[in-house]
Amino acid sequence: MSKIKVTIWNENVHERAEGAFGDLIRGFYPDGIHNALKRNLAADDLDITAVSLDMPEQGLPDALLEATDVLVWWGHCAHAKVEDALVDKIQRRIQEGMGLIVLHSGHYSKIFRRMLGTSCSLRWREVGEKERVWAVDLQHPIAQGVPETFVIPHTEMYGEPFHIPAEAHVVFMSWYEGGNVFRSGVTFQRGAGKIFYFSPGHETFPIYHQAEVVKVIGNAVRWAAPALPPQQTKCWDKDPALETVYSENPIAKVDTSALHKAK
Ligand code: ZN
Repeated sequence: MSKIKVTIWNENVHERAEGAFGDLIRGFYPDGIHNALKRNLAADDLDITAVSLDMPEQGLPDALLEATDVLVWWGHCAHAKVEDALVDKIQRRIQEGMGLIVLHSGHYSKIFRRMLGTSCSLRWREVGEKERVWAVDLQHPIAQGVPETFVIPHTEMYGEPFHIPAEAHVVFMSWYEGGNVFRSGVTFQRGAGKIFYFSPGHETFPIYHQAEVVKVIGNAVRWAAPALPPQQTKCWDKDPALETVYSENPIAKVDTSALHKAK
């Protein structure tokens, strides 16, 4: 069985910050969240590449993007630095079947808002409170092997209303010590591509070293892997009729192919 090609993208800005803030984060993620996730997700069925915004072509050259089955995204303060042309290319790959896993503050990333078409805004509060996560769709592949409920001791609160499309399929819900609730694990489909958003992962806590959180992300990667090769899910070619078409409509005789060039 061929391995799932996973690319973990991280803006990698907080991890390189100077002073006590950077020191705190580097204590958990000495070489960045992307490399910590790569190590923690390592498995025989995954071929994982960790990249960051400061790398050539913003970490996602065409050859890597084309070869990626599932893209994992962590961003916060550098969303605006991601080039629109790159977002266009990622969007096309998702529509062709590439999976997208968006983590934590990635809810405001260009690619997540592009794919969902909503503001993706939410309430937030950073006081290090407790979060209790509940699996609410126990049958879902992303919930397999994950406890029905588990606690993240210290987290940033993300609360409702979360402005995402009403079609969101809720796999996980969270309750916070301060009283808020949140749809913390939701799935979508865009074209042939599966999308999963998972909110835990604030950078000043070691959340990506917590076993339950790593289990959820690993499950999500396998769930979002494309079921078919991209050449079977591209759908913008002119289609030959399977049967003879007997049309007397004069428009059918006009060659309009120039009007329908693929964008
Ligand atoms: Zn955060």
